[in-house]
Amino acid sequence: MLRATDRYDCTKAQTSFGSGNYWVRSGPLSSRAAYVRTSSVWQDEATLHILYADGVILTRHMDGHAASRALRLGAIFEMAIPPRAAPVTRMLWHVRGSANLRGIVVSPALATVKDSARSDLILGTLYGAFAGLCLALLVYNLALWAALRHQFQLAYCAMVAGLLLYTFTSSGAVAWVFPAFENNDRLRINYILLAASAASALAFARSFFEREVFQGWLARAASIVTAALLAAPFGVILLAPWHIRLFDGIYASTFLLLIALVPFILWNAWRTRSNYLWLFSISWAAPVVFAGVRVAQNFHLFGWHFLLDNSTIMAMALEALISSVAIAYRFRLIAAERDEARERAIAARLLADADPLTGLLNRRGFLHAAIGRDLPHLLVLADIDHFKAVNETLGHDGGDEVLRIIARALRAAAPPDTLIARLGGEEFAMLMPDYGHDLANEVLTRVREERMPFDMAVTISLGTSAGPINDEAGWKALYRRADQALFAAKAAGRDRVRHAPSAFAA
Ligand code: GH3
Ligand code: MG
Ligand code: MG
Repeated sequence: MLRATDRYDCTKAQTSFGSGNYWVRSGPLSSRAAYVRTSSVWQDEATLHILYADGVILTRHMDGHAASRALRLGAIFEMAIPPRAAPVTRMLWHVRGSANLRGIVVSPALATVKDSARSDLILGTLYGAFAGLCLALLVYNLALWAALRHQFQLAYCAMVAGLLLYTFTSSGAVAWVFPAFENNDRLRINYILLAASAASALAFARSFFEREVFQGWLARAASIVTAALLAAPFGVILLAPWHIRLFDGIYASTFLLLIALVPFILWNAWRTRSNYLWLFSISWAAPVVFAGVRVAQNFHLFGWHFLLDNSTIMAMALEALISSVAIAYRFRLIAAERDEARERAIAARLLADADPLTGLLNRRGFLHAAIGRDLPHLLVLADIDHFKAVNETLGHDGGDEVLRIIARALRAAAPPDTLIARLGGEEFAMLMPDYGHDLANEVLTRVREERMPFDMAVTISLGTSAGPINDEAGWKALYRRADQALFAAKAAGRDRVRHAPSAFAA
C-alpha cells in the first residue's frame, strides 16, 4: 500500500464509515519534518508506517498509554519521525478500535521542532490565560459567597470550577501531569466535565434570574435538560467503545437541547421584565454563537481555524466574565433595594415615635430613647396651667395652636441634644444630662415671652428631678419625683418651678 503509486482517493468523509479498524494513507510527501501531528481521537491503538525516499520503512506503534505520552497542548498526538538522510515520501496509519467520531486520522500535519514548540507556547498562553481567569473568578466569587451566601454564587463557582478542570483535561495538560493516564480515559473525563459545566451554567441561570422567569413548563424543561446533561456522558463513560457513536450523538444532542432552551429563558425574562435580561443575553450569546459555528464547521461550511477550534474555551471565558459582571450588577440592585427598605423602616420608626401635632417625640419614642442612659439625667415635666379654660376660651383648635407654641418654646429653650416629648394631653417632658443647667427656669421664662392667640395669658408649671435612668424602674422613680414636684408647683400657685430633692440625698 505504501509503495503503490495509484491514488486511493476517498470520495466519502472518513466519518461515514463508522467505528472499526482502518488503514489511512497520506498523499505523496517530500518532507524532513521532525513530527507528524494529528488531533487526539478515541482509538485503541495506532501503528504508523513511514516510507523514506530510499525505500526504507520505519514503524512506530502507539497504544493508549503511549498516546497519552505523545499528547501536546491542544490535545494533539505528536509522533516523532526518525531522521534519516532521505526524506519521507509517504505515511500509512493502521488504526485499531477507532471510534471515528470526527475522523480516523484527524487534521494530520507535519511539523518541525520549532513548529511544535510554537504551538505549545501559543496554546499554553491561551489555556494559561483562561485558567488564570477561572482561578481568579473562582477565588473571588467563593470569597463573596462566604460573605453573602447567595445560591447563585455557588452555581457560578461550580460552573467556573468545571470549566477550569475541563480546560486542564481537554487541553491535554493533564497528560503532562499524569502521564500514566490512558488517552481514552482522559476523553471520558472530558465528557463528564463539559456536561457538568453546562449543567451548572443552567443552574446558575436558574438561581440568578428572578423567580418568575423559571416557572411552569420552563422550570420542568430546565430540570429535564439538566438531568439529560448529567446522565448522557455516562453512556460514553461506562459503555464506550460499545456504540460510542450513538452515545456521542445522544451526548451532543443534550447540548442542542440546552441551546434550544436559551431563547425560551430569554423570552420569559423579557416577558417578566427581568432586570438581568440584557446581561444574560450577551453572556449566553457567546456560547450559543460559537456552538452554532462549530455545528456549521461539522457540516464543512467553514474551514479549520485555530480560533474556531478553541472556541469552546473562548466562549466559556466570555460567558464566565460577563456573568461575573451580571453578578456585580445584581449586587448593585440588591444593595439599592436594601437601602430603600432601610430608609422606609427608619421613616416608619420616626413616624411611630413622633407626635403628629407638635412634631416632638411621643411617649413611646421618648421612652425608647431615654431608658438605658446611666449618667445622672435631669428630667423636667411641664404642664400647661388651666388648659381646660384655654380650650373653653379659644376652642379646641386654638388649644392645639397653644400646644404647638409651647412645643416650639421648649425646643428653643433646651440645649440641642435634649430629648423633648409630649407625653400626652398638655403635659411635656424634657431630658438632658444633669450638669447643673437650670433648664426648667429657662423654659419658664421662654414660655412667658411667647405671644399666644388673642394675646391670651397662658402659663405652665414645671417639676424637675435628677437621677440615673438605667432601666424601666429608674425611669418610673425619676418620673414619680418630677411629677410630685410638678404637683407642688401647681399647689403653690402655678406658673413656677419646683425641684424634687436629690435622689441621693433622699
Ligand atoms: P391644671 O392647671 O391643673 O393642669 O388644669 P388643666 O385644666 O390644665 O388640667 P386638666 O388635666 O384637668 O385638663 C387638661 C385638658 O387638656 C383636658 C383636655 O380637654 C385637654 N386636652 C388634652 N389633649 C388635648 C389636645 O390634644 N388638644 C387640645 N386642644 N386639648 C387637649
Ligand atoms: Mg394642665
Ligand atoms: Mg395635665
